[in-house]
Amino acid sequence: MDALCPECQQAMQWQKGHFICEACHKSYQQQALCPECHQPLEELKACGAVDYFCRSGGHGMVSKRRVVFTYQLID
Ligand SMILES: [Zn+2]
Ligand SMILES: [Zn+2]
Repeated sequence: MDALCPECQQAMQWQKGHFICEACHKSYQQQALCPECHQPLEELKACGAVDYFCRSGGHGMVSKRRVVFTYQLID
């Protein structure tokens, strides 16, 4: 899965826990959102895999393929 820069839509690089857009010289934090209610999902890390859980919207476990990823600027 390519993470695309919200500003210029170019593929970003993963570096030290966040994404970097080399074109814009900006850093972004990835945020996982529920596809149903667009509330932030809780990340459950188990056995090297990450599961996503919608607690605030009550949608339970969300498959990674359905998760909506957004990117927030880090300053
Ligand atoms: Zn960019
Ligand atoms: Zn939800």
